[in-house]
Amino acid sequence: MNTATEVLHRVFGYDTFRPGQQEIIEHVAGGGDALVLMPTGGGKSLCYQIPALVRPGVGVVISPLIALMQDQVDALTALGVRAGFLNSTQDLDQRQLVEAEFLAGELDLLYLAPERLRLESTVRLLKKGDIALFAIDEAHCVSQWGHDFRPDYLALSELRAHWPEVPRIALTATATPATHAEIAERLGLREARHFVAGFDRPNIHYRITAKSEPKRQLLDFLRAEHPGDSGIVYCLSRSSAEKIAAFLVENGIPALPYHAGLDARTRAHHQARFLREDGLVVVATIAFGMGIDKPDVRFVAHLDLPKSVEGYYQETGRAGRDGLPATAWMAYGLQDVVQHRRMALEGDEQHRRRQALHLDAMLALCETVTCRRAMLLDYFGQPDSGPCGNCDTCQSPPESWDGTVPAQKMLSTVLRLARERGQKFGVGQIVDILLGKTTAKVLQHGHDSLTVFGVGTELGNAEWHGVARQLLAQGLLAVEPNYGALVLTEASADVLRGHREVRLRRDPRRAAKPAATPKSRQAAELPAEAAPVFERLRAWRAAMAKEQGVPAYVIFHDATLREIATLGPSSLEELGTVSGVGENKLAKYGEQVLAALAES
Ligand code: ADP
Ligand code: ZN
Repeated sequence: MNTATEVLHRVFGYDTFRPGQQEIIEHVAGGGDALVLMPTGGGKSLCYQIPALVRPGVGVVISPLIALMQDQVDALTALGVRAGFLNSTQDLDQRQLVEAEFLAGELDLLYLAPERLRLESTVRLLKKGDIALFAIDEAHCVSQWGHDFRPDYLALSELRAHWPEVPRIALTATATPATHAEIAERLGLREARHFVAGFDRPNIHYRITAKSEPKRQLLDFLRAEHPGDSGIVYCLSRSSAEKIAAFLVENGIPALPYHAGLDARTRAHHQARFLREDGLVVVATIAFGMGIDKPDVRFVAHLDLPKSVEGYYQETGRAGRDGLPATAWMAYGLQDVVQHRRMALEGDEQHRRRQALHLDAMLALCETVTCRRAMLLDYFGQPDSGPCGNCDTCQSPPESWDGTVPAQKMLSTVLRLARERGQKFGVGQIVDILLGKTTAKVLQHGHDSLTVFGVGTELGNAEWHGVARQLLAQGLLAVEPNYGALVLTEASADVLRGHREVRLRRDPRRAAKPAATPKSRQAAELPAEAAPVFERLRAWRAAMAKEQGVPAYVIFHDATLREIATLGPSSLEELGTVSGVGENKLAKYGEQVLAALAES
């Protein structure tokens, strides 16, 4: 008899482990240390929750996501697991209550903010209790080169000194091989067993489309593919987060902004509404979403380019944790490249080099003519996965063309302006010169007398902007920090001399749409007769969630309600076979679910 499997069935109500879970759980339950890399939605929580339940003592979970601890504890309580948390949001009474429960051995899991462990008093408290394991969630926060560094995480290296016998499991969804090694080093986990689950998120459809009118494009995307769905829209600045949220609301889509300029209460309120309500869109800067474990986020849209592939992967990974189809959509254009190239010129030498590397990888993903998923997987150390069939480049492959001559024309225009006139200009002026446009600015500077004037009429305005964007992306052109004027790079010379071919991507005229995969919640396969039953169950769940003050998914996930609606169980026993219906939930909600089903 396998205890871990028994807990999986009885407590969580799941039939089988997800890939990787069983090995990890058995290793940690047996007292081993582990470093776990698993994509968002892969099922990391079970990897420490089950060992904590199987081993004697309390599983201590270190997580930076204070705002989510209450929901995590509620979700566990709903499963009949005894859980509590200690963080700065509590008053003394609440903390003392949890401490007493811990000491009395009445907890299975205790969530702690990392800064708590810096307190002498916390260490003393923990020493008085019996500890099953330490789980270090969001372990990449220990990486100083990463995007989420938290100094408090450095102190976690001392856990081993204090509790040499207690197994430690560190978990993260974002790690390139370099970050991975750094986590192992800083947390003292070099001896630990490393588990790297596949990074693929097959249910996410990836799409990167050329930016023309971003707001309109976003609206079209939401209306066509995700009406009534929950999702996140990321943009770079606070003001655009505000504007886009207002724009969506004007157009009948419920949306809230989320950014660092809002006070903490408003932010917490907006986050709580996002978690609790169905069909709400949050328009956010990157401050939003870390550790959000809302399972039914159906899309993540980027209106600005993320700084790195890690960031992109982490943000898009918040979509479709429940395994149902979801979309990662991004609009990307010339201005994104200009802006990021300029930002990458700030800071010290080392910082600049790192930024530039991150940006190059991100731009390569945007400009690729091959499968985006294969490229992402390759980046995270899983090469040769082949075309996926569920991204835009697979579904409508963009052509690549020999852009060497246009590239030479553009570069030599930049060169001539600099050599002959000592001038630098932005993309707009360069393109006007190539197209032979006699604008006021062209005439004012006498650019109509340049030999390159009008040599580029074989392409249109938009196509020339596409050429500039790709030359910038490939590092064959650069921008100046202050005015965004174009300048040559060392690599430009090879192109000008004809020593280097330039391959460019022809942007598809119409954005690709996912073909075969169902897109929205409404469309995801549900037999016709089950659809109204599903809606009835959702209504019951909403009422229940409201009554208990918890997010709807804490009661049951969409995927579980879907299965119940399709199966139509007529007994508690039959209901208990549905994935996501464990012992505790069956006892608590079983009769009510059967009653809701019988109503028809
Ligand atoms: P992560 O922390 O890796 O992003 P979670 O632990 O939040 O992922 O799990 C993602 C979702 O998958 C959750 O809704 C969880 O209940 C569900 N899940 C995890 N393991 C299993 C399993 N073995 N069978 C079915 N569902 C699972
Ligand atoms: Zn693909």
